[in-house]
Amino acid sequence: MQVVVDLTRCQGYAQCVFLAPEVFELHGQEGLLYAPAVPDDQTERVHQAVAACPVQAILVGEGVTARAR
Ligand code: SF4
Repeated sequence: MQVVVDLTRCQGYAQCVFLAPEVFELHGQEGLLYAPAVPDDQTERVHQAVAACPVQAILVGEGVTARAR
């Protein structure tokens, strides 16, 4: 599974980091880093992160790409 975070939406609330720390990592105040290729054992956590993100910035699926800005 692939994950993409729309960083123009992300407000650094860190819900995703809390729920799936092996995939999402927060650096500094607004610098979210993430692993685009989600390991199979992390997919459930990433789905929880998608649901928890207050601004719906996380997209998942096969072949997702960041939307044009
Ligand atoms: S939960 Fe959403 S807004 Fe918060 S850091 Fe993750 S992607 Fe960004």
